This record gives sequence, C-alpha cells and structure tokens, in this order.
Amino acid sequence: MSTSSPSTADEVRRNRILSSKLYFDVPITKDPIIYSTSYDISFLGIEKLHPFDSSKWGRICQFLVENGVLDRERIVEPLEATKDDLLVVHSESYLNSLKISLNVAKITEVAPVGVFPNCLVQKKVLYPFRVQVGGTILAAKLAKERGCAINVGGGFHHCCADQGGGFCAYADISLCIHYAFVRLNISRVMIIDLDAHQGNGHERDFSDDRRVYILDMYNPNIYPLDFEARRYIDQRVEVPSGTTTEEYLAKLDEALQVAEKAFDPEMVIYNAGTDILDGDPLGRLRISPDGVAIRDEKVFMFARDKNIPLVMLTSGGYMKSSARVIADSIINLSNKSLITMGGSI
Ligand SMILES: [Zn+2]
Repeated sequence: MSTSSPSTADEVRRNRILSSKLYFDVPITKDPIIYSTSYDISFLGIEKLHPFDSSKWGRICQFLVENGVLDRERIVEPLEATKDDLLVVHSESYLNSLKISLNVAKITEVAPVGVFPNCLVQKKVLYPFRVQVGGTILAAKLAKERGCAINVGGGFHHCCADQGGGFCAYADISLCIHYAFVRLNISRVMIIDLDAHQGNGHERDFSDDRRVYILDMYNPNIYPLDFEARRYIDQRVEVPSGTTTEEYLAKLDEALQVAEKAFDPEMVIYNAGTDILDGDPLGRLRISPDGVAIRDEKVFMFARDKNIPLVMLTSGGYMKSSARVIADSIINLSNKSLITMGGSI
C-alpha cells in the first residue's frame, strides 16, 4: 500500500480535480466565449418532438458572428468532461443510471430516447451535455483571467450529485464551483440564478456549504416545486406567473442590493436562463427581449463594480427566439465594454 494514496472523500475529489485536463491554458488570441459545435443536439430528427430549440447554442454564436462582434477563430472550444471529472460531484451509481436509456429519457423529457440503444444515447445526447459541462468548468478559469466568461451552453441547474431532471443530466454548476475552490484558490462563490425555474440542483449540492451564497429568482408556480431545496436558498425572490418586465427588474435591483450586503464573493456564477421571456410556455413570465438585456447588464455591472470574476451560463429558454435575444444581450454587453471581445482593451 502506498502511503500517499488518498484516504478521504475530500482528498479523492481534490486529486481528481488536480489531474483533470479541463483547465487548459487559453491563449489571449481567444475571446472569453466558450462553445463547441458538439453542444448542439440532433438525434434522428426526434429533437423536433421536444419543445426545445436544441441547436440554440450554435445559433447564438452564428448571430454573434453575423453581427461582427465575434470571430469564429476566437471561440474557445472546451473538452468533454470525463467520468473522473464527473465523479468530482456525481456518485458512481448516478452515472451508471445514465447507462439505461429510459432514465435518460425521463431526465430529458424526450420519451423516444428511452427506446434507443444506450451507445447512441450516449453519443447523441449525453456527449453534447458533457462537452457543455467542460465549458462551464473552464469558464471559471477564464473568468478569473479575463474578468468574465460566457459559456454559450450549460446551466443545468436541476441536476444534483445523485439525481438528474428537467433536461439536466449533469450538475455543471456544482462541478464548476468545486473546481474553482481547488484550482483557483477561491473560497466564496455567489450563484445568481435568474432562470425562470428554481435551481434545485445546486441548492441540494450546497445545502450546508457556507462558502456558497445562492440568490434564486424563480417562478414558484412551475417545475420543480422542490420545497426542500427552497430551504437552502440564501435569498429567495419569487416572481409568480405573469410578472412584467418592470416588476421583474425592480425586484432584481432590490435583490442585488440585499446580496451585496449579505455576502462578499470571490466569484459570481450567473445562470442566465431566457425562459423568463414573454411567451415562453414553461417559464410563464412576461419579460421583454430588452428586459433580458437590461437584466444581464445589471448582473454584469454588479460583478464589475466589485471587480469579481463572473461566469455566465445560458441555461433554460428554448423558444426559437431565445438565441437571438441572448446574442443581442451579449452584443449589448460588448458595446458597453462589460465583456471584452476581439482583443480590444
Ligand atoms: Zn428554466
């Protein structure tokens, strides 16, 4: 027996993080925008059965390129999170459960996924998710170096260590934070979760962890209705069905002021779901496209004013219009110098 073999769960986790390849060096010739064509899911046409635009991520980048704010060559392409990477948060039994297609069908809410051989489900559904997880984890490193970074995918906030759900198969936010603790020497992280749904995954994972402050603004009338996880939210802001842009932004201003007084983070993880948009069948809120851009700007200003690195994840919101709205918001952030693109100082 080697005396240097890890003896506790924490050591095992730490060693997994330290030996991971996900934190590679990103040259300065790249922008803090993370995306891979592997993100986009196409699966024998069955993705059309789902109410989601499963190529949203690629379309966001395409809009940014067309608008001249992003050069394809400057996009950072992440690596796929390996099994060892995923074990930093997930249990072996949970990862094994994904080897049964029926379980993946339940998590993604696409019933036909259940009848396909698992090798196909792994390749066409879970692999894209694992690359997005690699993107979220890398985003924290890039944010520390550049001030902020956007993973054009990720934000799977319904998944925790031992359970997936609501289209979320891997707990990318929890993973990202654990990597930041070890690799970036950070000990206080604020999650600002502004997706329309409650972020019960990270809430369960950090339920008793004082290093993580969670501000969650969500519609209490919709999925996941996870009342136990609500107890773990540090600042709960409920925005019921029908909430308008004006009401929403006023509540956000107030929430950010409260968060500022309550916690002194070294990194902000911003879960920027666009299912708050008016017309989204799942989110049921009434926020305008301009309202989304103003929301994102407020969160970026919050972090920049305090010089705190910010990671943005696009999370939920899969209407056909979502990609355009997200791209327009990133263009606005670039115009206001809240994110630096194209090598400009
Ligand atoms: Zn959502």
